[in-house]
Amino acid sequence: MRQIVYIIIGVALLMAGQSCGRPGGRDRGGKPRITVTIEPLRYFTEAIAGDCFAVESMVPKGSSPEMYDPSPRQLVALSRSKAYFRVGYVDFEQVWMERLAENAPDMQVFDLSEGVPLIRATEPHGHHGSGVEPHIWMSAENALAISANIAAALCRLDAVHAPFYRHRLDSLSQVIRGTDAAIRGMLAGASRSFMIYHPALSYFARDYGLRQYALEESGKEPSPSYLKDLADVCRREDIRVVFVQPEFDVRNARVVAEEAKARLVQVNPLAYDWRQEMLSVARALQEAGIRNEEKE
Ligand SMILES: [Zn+2]
Repeated sequence: MRQIVYIIIGVALLMAGQSCGRPGGRDRGGKPRITVTIEPLRYFTEAIAGDCFAVESMVPKGSSPEMYDPSPRQLVALSRSKAYFRVGYVDFEQVWMERLAENAPDMQVFDLSEGVPLIRATEPHGHHGSGVEPHIWMSAENALAISANIAAALCRLDAVHAPFYRHRLDSLSQVIRGTDAAIRGMLAGASRSFMIYHPALSYFARDYGLRQYALEESGKEPSPSYLKDLADVCRREDIRVVFVQPEFDVRNARVVAEEAKARLVQVNPLAYDWRQEMLSVARALQEAGIRNEEKE
């Protein structure tokens, strides 16, 4: 009997290194909650928080953070959140953040864009543009800063487990650096310019010395004359990839891609699995580069 007790204590001590060891830790309802704006932030937050917090995204899969309104159920759930992690400048936050904070006065709000090298947008983005290019998470360099901000926030919310969060931040940072190195390898000799429906890869382009062209015309559906200009851009810039996102219409992008004999590739910068998404963008550019070299 005594041996069994020792074993149980031993296992509990071991687990304390990997988890919060809270009673009923498996029960989502029993854990403190954190709400984040979009799925990629849930990826980073869960990677660091382990099972210490239950993390939920405000903008559900398939919706755009540029035109989403929260449901009444979400507003109620939010009042039970201990903290809110915002991306920084996405439209949803510009419109809703004040009301969300009023709705949940005890909730602490953390801005994950702090310390991130921002791109000032040349034209307003979305309907409530702030002058800042909002898609900061599609960059390995930015992801390191975002993750450090998340870890700092978790340490403030739950100081007892600070060593645990710091340790997990180290592991996540290694994953991010590894992703960055893999992308740099893939992009050697790849296509340097690309087109995308909604310009969500500005930071990705900056980091890897690529040129991004948006199909949208100032955040709106492109006119026929604009589409014709874009086809010219494709030929001039030797664009071989046109990216489309699930939240946006694919029809116009297909017209341009066919005109320019470019590949239409679906990407999803709002997907949960940040690493996978970063790699698939790079892979599409890599394949386009290789395909063309074979042709020449
Ligand atoms: Zn956007």
